[in-house]
Order: sequence, then C-alpha cells, then structure tokens
Amino acid sequence: MTALVIAEHDNASLKGSTLNTVTAAAQAGGDVHILIAGHNAKAAADAAAQIAGVSKVLLADAPQFADGLAENVAEQALAIAKDYSHILAPATAYGKNILPRVAAKLDVAQISEITKVDSADTFERPIYAGNAIATVQSTDSIKVITVRSTGFDAAATGGSAAVESLTAVANSGKSSFVSREVAKSDRPELTAAKIIVSGGRGMGSSESFKILEPLADKLNAAMGASRAAVDAGYVPNDWQVGQTGKIVAPQLYFAVGISGAIQHLAGMKDSKVIVAINKDEEAPIFSVADYGIVGDLFEVVPELVKQLG
Ligand SMILES: Cc1cc2nc3c(=O)[nH]c(=O)nc-3n(C[C@H](O)[C@H](O)[C@H](O)COP(=O)(O)OP(=O)(O)OC[C@H]3O[C@@H](n4cnc5c(N)ncnc54)[C@H](O)[C@@H]3O)c2cc1C
Repeated sequence: MTALVIAEHDNASLKGSTLNTVTAAAQAGGDVHILIAGHNAKAAADAAAQIAGVSKVLLADAPQFADGLAENVAEQALAIAKDYSHILAPATAYGKNILPRVAAKLDVAQISEITKVDSADTFERPIYAGNAIATVQSTDSIKVITVRSTGFDAAATGGSAAVESLTAVANSGKSSFVSREVAKSDRPELTAAKIIVSGGRGMGSSESFKILEPLADKLNAAMGASRAAVDAGYVPNDWQVGQTGKIVAPQLYFAVGISGAIQHLAGMKDSKVIVAINKDEEAPIFSVADYGIVGDLFEVVPELVKQLG
C-alpha cells in the first residue's frame, strides 16, 4: 500500500498545505511518495525529500508543468496512478482543480475535504457546512482524496527521501497559461496565518475597515472578512472566510462586527482561541467565542490596540 501526494508548490518551495496532506497520507498507512510536477522545480523536489515520512519524491520537470495547469498535472498523476492505493492533494484551489480529473479518468469516487483518517479505506469529512461529519468508506481500488489542511498537523522535516525523475507526459494542449495576478501583501497568507483579524458588515465601509489594520499590525496577523463585508465591497474577495471562502484554523481568530452565521463559522470554528467583538450580546458568534467583548467595535478596537502597546 503506497500513497501518492500531489504537491502544491511554486517550483522553488512547497506550499504549507502539502505538509498537512503528507500527514493525512501517512495516516492511511503504507509508504508515502510525493509527485512534483513543475519546471525547474528541483528546489521544490529537494524540499519534499526532506519531509519526514516521505520515502520517495517523483519529479516530473518540463515546461508544460511550469504554471501548474491542472490538465497536465492530472495526466502526469494518471500516468503513475496504477502504482498507488491512495492519491491525495490538498483541498485548495490547486488540488480541487486536479483531483476530480484524476478520479473521473480512473472511474472512482473522489472523497473530498477529509478531516480525519479512520483507516486505510474510511475517512471523515464535514457536510452541511460543517454541521455534521460524514464517515465514508471507499471500496475503490484507488482512493482519490482531497485533504482539508486544517484537519491535519503539518508533517515535520528531517527526512531524506530519494528524488527520482519521471518521464514527463506530453503537453495536453487543452489549456495554456495566460497570466497570473498575485495579490501583494506584507501580511501572512490567510490560510497559513497564526493570527487572523476578520471584520464583518459591522465595519460599515471600506474606509472604516482600516480600523482593524493597527490591530493586525501589532499581532502580525492576516486579515479576513465575512462574506457580507466582501459582498459590500469593503475588502477583496480573497479575504473571505467561510463555507464558500477560505477554511482557517489559526491559533487566534478575531471576529469583529461579524454576527456568526453558520456559513462563516464553517470556515473558522476550529480556530484555537476565538475573540468576538460585537455590540449585540445575542450575536451567535458569542456561542463559539472563547472571549467575547460586547461593545461598539469603533471604541473597543482602538482601546485594544492601545492596551497592546
Ligand atoms: C450558500 C451560502 C454560502 C455562504 N458562505 C459564506 C462564507 O463563506 N462566509 C461568510 O462569512 N458568510 C457566508 N454566507 C453568508 C452568511 O449567511 C451571512 O450572511 C454572513 O456571514 C453575514 O456576515 P456578517 O456577520 O458580517 O454580517 P451580519 O450578519 O449583518 O452581522 C453584522 C454584525 O455586526 C455587528 N455590528 C454592527 N455594528 C457594530 C458595531 N459598531 N460594533 C460592534 N458590532 C457591530 C452586528 O451586531 C452584527 O452581529 C453564505 C451564505 C450562503 C447562503
């Protein structure tokens, strides 16, 4: 029994979610191999070789993999799929673009967004916006799985796996890379941040949303938002936390002017410590909060910043 993890990377380094996916793969039992499909991606392959618990890194290095086009990466995974009992990828935009193609071509049922491995063929995954956990058993010969990174610790480093070169599959020609617009921010990336300061509709406007910046600066936090704040145009939509946004589980999550709708909770309720600031003491966010401050955020937030020194 061997599991293959399709790594998410930028050719130079691995994305953090790859490490959580390796942990899930290891829990399924057996060996863990990692596929790096990239271009000039030796550095990413070397990083993968250092992950504890990985026994082999497979490097498919060719120009058609430079930008991670799902059509090409999926074909590369399919070329070696028969050697594996499990094929896993992070449940990120990257993994979610690749694995359904792999599952469809293998004619197996994908198991999406697992948060726990019960055994080699049985997994747990949230359903109904996280209100219930489904335990699913797969009888497929190859289990194709996306992994919710917040459900698994990151694998440690300290390994020394061999890196083996694969013959790259041909360019599928079905898609081509046009351009990428990367949001530039000095703040940590939302899904990787240890602390997140999120604002909701209660922030009132994009101008007043800025009141959260000094708090995020002091804590070296990422900034997030509810969907209402995004839909109102206060902040960009890649800040959205929740069922249809990013799933996060930082050490500390501030929900400021956020009511706590289930769709928002679905994205942040696994945070270690939750602090809610809301003027409505009945707001549902207080039911998941470890610390709650009932008050006007325009008074509480500046005071908090002052107290933090
Ligand atoms: C299919 C579907 C998917 C969805 N996905 C998501 C998702 O991914 N993420 C998400 O967030 N939502 C999602 N939603 C929307 C969700 O249902 C809520 O509408 C949304 O989360 C509400 O955002 P909010 O808490 O900012 O706004 P509101 O519910 O309007 O809450 C604003 C809060 O601010 C407080 N407030 C106002 N002024 C102040 C002040 N001065 N000081 C302190 N507190 C103040 C109010 O008391 C209130 O509790 C989804 C909905 C659907 C149907």
